[in-house]
Amino acid sequence: MADSGRVPHALMLGGMPGIGKMRLARAFAQYLHCQARVDGDSCGRCPSCIQHQTLNNPDLHFAYPIVKIDSKPTLCSDWAPQWREMLEQWSYMPPERWNELMNVGASQPRIFVTESEEIINRATLSAYKEKLKIFIIWLPELMQNETANKLLKIIEEPFSDTVFILVSNNDAAVLPTISSRTRRLNMLPLPEDEIASWLCEQRGLDSREALATARRAGGSISKADQIACHPDELKEFAEIFQNLMRAAYGARMQMLKKISETTAAFGRRKLIRFLEYCNSQVRENFIYNLRMPQLMQLSPDEEAFSQRFAPFIHAGNVEEMTEAFSVASRDVERNCNAKIVMFDVAMILATLIRRPHSRPSSGAR
Ligand SMILES: [Zn+2]
Repeated sequence: MADSGRVPHALMLGGMPGIGKMRLARAFAQYLHCQARVDGDSCGRCPSCIQHQTLNNPDLHFAYPIVKIDSKPTLCSDWAPQWREMLEQWSYMPPERWNELMNVGASQPRIFVTESEEIINRATLSAYKEKLKIFIIWLPELMQNETANKLLKIIEEPFSDTVFILVSNNDAAVLPTISSRTRRLNMLPLPEDEIASWLCEQRGLDSREALATARRAGGSISKADQIACHPDELKEFAEIFQNLMRAAYGARMQMLKKISETTAAFGRRKLIRFLEYCNSQVRENFIYNLRMPQLMQLSPDEEAFSQRFAPFIHAGNVEEMTEAFSVASRDVERNCNAKIVMFDVAMILATLIRRPHSRPSSGAR
């Protein structure tokens, strides 16, 4: 696109979190500005490239979700030091890390309407030095409606020297009025061997450990990183998951209540990791029944459990079970009462796990 001079005014990079969309957006912006492109890459040495690499290019602007300070409206630039740290230290952009850097507590970061005014102001100023002004908007799905409405016109009919690059973790949630005005590029999950070598190089894992971790990460570097940062959790999670499933099958209410209390006490981030673990185990056990070892990612401990447990996960309950864990995960993210969320999940499991394998075809879902 850049070489043929046909860069759309607005691009949207979509795909799951942790696959390098922001890295691509930044590399593309640097390429667009580079004064001495070589073989389809930026030179890395011209003044413009240096400015990009040091995050000092006056014609590259970032917009991203933030929280208010003292309930006053803020601009992204108020959070510039944290943003710089994020881009430099966490270039695969795990959103939970960004929330931690801002110390958001229970508030939900947003791209506020004040920011769209700022973007319009900056776009209307003549370019400082380069030909092109580039706006990278991270997580456009977190724009307030008002913000999006203000930006519509400039995204649809931008000035000739302006490019918007939207980087989304969930492009289905971006307001259609915005997404329909962009050229969408869908980025794919990363291959396991790439994730494994990243873990070896960046986190010092040995190659066996790295590959096992990569297999659980579903193509996302940030998920792999999260798993690698908490190596002791897997054993703990496996034990609780197995107890949870046994108690659900036996409909042992006291036990289910106890497990919901123990897990609720994990705190938000660890509890979400646990729910994601449960979700992956349900999937793995479903696959286990298909006898396709090449698709399986179970440890020897987990496999020993699965030999007897897997038949209880089948086409009649697998979807609803994974949905229950996903909903719980979202509720915990939104700061709902964790004990109630976990007890709810336990009750749903107790119903689903005893559901017979073949269900009457007339049964309503
Ligand atoms: Zn250059």
